[in-house]
Amino acid sequence: MIVRKNMAELEKMRAAGLLVWKILDTLKSKAVEGATTFDLEVAAEKMMADAGARPAFKGYTTPSAGTKFPFVLCTSVNEEIVHGMPSQKRVLKKGDIVSIDTGVQLNGYYGDSALTVPVGEITEETRKLLEVTRESLELAIDKARPGNRLFDICGTVERHVTSHGFTIVREFVGHGIGTQMHEEPQIPNYVDRRSENPRLKEGMVLAIEPMVNAGKPGSRVKPDKWTAVTEDGRYSAHFEHTVAVTANGPWVLTRP
Ligand code: MG
Ligand code: MG
Repeated sequence: MIVRKNMAELEKMRAAGLLVWKILDTLKSKAVEGATTFDLEVAAEKMMADAGARPAFKGYTTPSAGTKFPFVLCTSVNEEIVHGMPSQKRVLKKGDIVSIDTGVQLNGYYGDSALTVPVGEITEETRKLLEVTRESLELAIDKARPGNRLFDICGTVERHVTSHGFTIVREFVGHGIGTQMHEEPQIPNYVDRRSENPRLKEGMVLAIEPMVNAGKPGSRVKPDKWTAVTEDGRYSAHFEHTVAVTANGPWVLTRP
């Protein structure tokens, strides 16, 4: 069942969303050559504590991982797709790209967003990968309107990405969000004919998150049970926003 939210609930999700935006906006400028991904973690954790928010990722567990995720951020560098772990040993260098994904719970409601940041100068192909992934998210957000269907979102991401010669990660998907970080529906970044295609209605809130590979679509999870990487070792990009479906159109809760 897809839980729809009333305006009072959306306002609470807005507060969570704006905190997530503020954190990511701050981290963007800290993801520089010589910084470690753990530096980002420390800054994010402090901002959450200062705001009285609970980190959504720290302590999160899934049946396949079997362990609690130990950090407030996922930092996924280069060939890492999602769920990478911040580390004092991971020093960012020129030409890297780092996906920073985070979520908070504030007053009972979740916000979830991600972006991929270039470190210094990156190659033209990598720049294009980031641009196309971000564009696919923006185009998909515009489909988050009452009367459209879920596949309008999925298909929009898929078409934009594949038309530029990049590929869609299929093992990880977006999701509904609210009082739980992961609610129904699942939101693949491609049209999965085996799954449901519900009509979008006012009050639905969707975390749309294209994960796009420069090379082949295949992924595997590293022995740490969390970090997903591309099978072919080529780079992957990830952008995400939490978006409410409203009568006035899409309301992106995770940016001003
Ligand atoms: Mg998410
Ligand atoms: Mg996320």
